[in-house]
Amino acid sequence: MAINPNSTNLVLPHAEPLDSATDADAYFEKFLEDFKKSYEGNYVQDDLDKLRLAYIFAKEKHRGQIRSSGEPYITHPVAVASLLLNLNVDVASLIAAILHDVVEDTNTPIEDINKFFGDTVGSLVDGLTKISKIKFRSNQEKLAENFRKMVIAMAKDLRVVIIKLCDRLHNMSTLDSLPDGKQGRIATETLEIYAPLANRLGLYSLKSQLEDFCLKHLHYETYQLIKTKIASKKAEREAYINEVLSIIRKELKEYGFKEFKVYGRPKHFYSIYKKIIERHLDFEDIHDLFAFRIIVPTVKDCYEALGVVHALWKPMPGRFKDYIAMPKANMYQSLHTTVIRPSGDPCEIQIRTSVMHETCEFGVAAHWAYKEKKDLNGSQSLNHFSWLRQFMEWQSEIKDPNEFLESVKVDLFEEEIFVFTPKGDVIQLPANATALDFAFGVHTELGLKTVGAKINGRLVPIKHGLKNGDIIEIISSKNQKPGKDWLNFVKTSKAKNRIRSYLRSEQREESRNLGQVILETELHAKNLDLETLIKNGKIEILVKTARESNLDDVLVGIGYGKIAVHDLLTKAFPLIFQVIENKPETIEEKISRHSAGTTVKRSSSQKGLLVSGIKGMLVSVAKCCSPLPGEAVQGFITLGRGISVHRQDCPRTFALDPHRKIDVNWVSDENDVSSSHVVTISIVVHERAGVLADVTAAISSVGANIKSAKVSVSPHNEGLLSFEIAVKSKAQLDDVIKKILAVSDVIKASRKNS
Ligand code: MN
Repeated sequence: MAINPNSTNLVLPHAEPLDSATDADAYFEKFLEDFKKSYEGNYVQDDLDKLRLAYIFAKEKHRGQIRSSGEPYITHPVAVASLLLNLNVDVASLIAAILHDVVEDTNTPIEDINKFFGDTVGSLVDGLTKISKIKFRSNQEKLAENFRKMVIAMAKDLRVVIIKLCDRLHNMSTLDSLPDGKQGRIATETLEIYAPLANRLGLYSLKSQLEDFCLKHLHYETYQLIKTKIASKKAEREAYINEVLSIIRKELKEYGFKEFKVYGRPKHFYSIYKKIIERHLDFEDIHDLFAFRIIVPTVKDCYEALGVVHALWKPMPGRFKDYIAMPKANMYQSLHTTVIRPSGDPCEIQIRTSVMHETCEFGVAAHWAYKEKKDLNGSQSLNHFSWLRQFMEWQSEIKDPNEFLESVKVDLFEEEIFVFTPKGDVIQLPANATALDFAFGVHTELGLKTVGAKINGRLVPIKHGLKNGDIIEIISSKNQKPGKDWLNFVKTSKAKNRIRSYLRSEQREESRNLGQVILETELHAKNLDLETLIKNGKIEILVKTARESNLDDVLVGIGYGKIAVHDLLTKAFPLIFQVIENKPETIEEKISRHSAGTTVKRSSSQKGLLVSGIKGMLVSVAKCCSPLPGEAVQGFITLGRGISVHRQDCPRTFALDPHRKIDVNWVSDENDVSSSHVVTISIVVHERAGVLADVTAAISSVGANIKSAKVSVSPHNEGLLSFEIAVKSKAQLDDVIKKILAVSDVIKASRKNS
């Protein structure tokens, strides 16, 4: 079948209602003629015999059945087969289309279909019968559920869905003869399920026609309005299209294009309707009722043609889309632009190569394009697209149909996935979403407390990626807290926003605590405290001087390092604080002085570290030197991140402000099981089979956990191993290194200092 570059509608062999079985026969003969024309040179007599046999069989089975339109029932399956001719499908699909309602509506056993028409046709008819039994729920919330059902159905064989879509298109075209209530229900279902599905499969003309029928039955007045507007002034309209076409042609020729085609057509009604709704426009404000299309040989030509168009007319900002560089999920490729003509009318222009155009016309159906025909003229261009090639390779290589289906599903639905709660509720997520995204999708509080998940019954970590159809049970703990690293793997903006806002409030809380300690320390030096200031109303002066709105903000500012506490106090209470000091005290000195006079409060943090005099402080171990329990350490007050603890010999500490030093000590119990520390160990070994396993065993033998391992080979053919391991103390680390050195063929092993 030749591709009509301007085709916007699938064509039926007849438009007027038929009223007798004789007419039906003539109708079938017309279909057969069209088939011969479309598949010229690519069919055998056997194909014709089988199609005729299917027709006779179905006509006999449907004998006496009448469509609501009054036509003999058999005209419907023939019409569906006729629509399929436009999509270049294989003969099995055409036969299945003719037989598609036989099992469902005439009590014919599926075994008969298998017996007379073979297993391929049988399984297609079986699939169609099953789809027709699916009850789609038609409110918006259940859309995901409906899609899932469709995915499962198409999982068997995409041809089933393509036939089903043509079945639906024919039913939509004859919807007028049904009662009003039924019309609305069927149209809604079509708009919510079938049209998006056609779009996903790249079947654009099917999609547009389905949508236009939906518009007619759901918003009749708007439909009529658009129709009238486009139909009126027919001559004017054609003159307009011709004028634009001739200008484009002339410019392209002048530029030097030899091979190109240009077409113009009115836009589909539904796309005009959507524009009115989405942009809150009045119908009168819609001027771009027409779309133009330029088809050129190569991708380079596309961009050059775009340049020609943009030089000719001013492009409308924000309306250029490059679907060539960034194809849609269904592999649609084209350049889209809207330009403004001197008359002020916007005008949409699509530019693509003829190969891209072919894909646009046939969509996923190109996969089943009639075999011999493909070899004659299509194979090279079809193979141009990697996805089409993949489709073909999958089908021939993958023996397990489930596996094939798996790949098809992933490819077609790569933008979003549908997963389930244990109760069967559907959650829609972007592709690559993780278990944690799911948890946030269910509820924010759940997300914040998530520690892991069970996917299809198997335990997985929170960053585990989800797949279509997964059933997910979230495991939460009240002790869980979100970490900064969560932001690195969550995909949904909802999860990102919730984690960020949690981290912000947590950081604020820590800064507030630290600020309070620093302020109290300064106040104690003058035998004052916060409580007294609050009691005698002096705190207002402090807040005002700091230009904050309340005490909390002042404390956060101090803790975050934004407010210099001594300057603030000197300004707020000059009489008390303006004392000349010879040498500024370090915070350490201040704190220890303060601690000497009062009860020393010592508390341990999660890391098994003690900070002088400070309760509830955030303490973190510096990444540059990763000190271990038992090693001499030094704390530094950071800006907004609590206290950072370094090894005393860490070179970094020389660069840090000595005024921010603070004493830190390890708690006596070095083997506190709750804390472990990640260090990197570098090992050099002689190449030997099994040496890696021996080293790994040595590390595990002292109870240290391996977090990651890297293996490489040096230029001298020595093996270089790098392990990240979690240890509880310096003593344990020493132990690990001793054990590693004891392994034969180990040359060197040491802790890595960065
Ligand atoms: Mn049907």
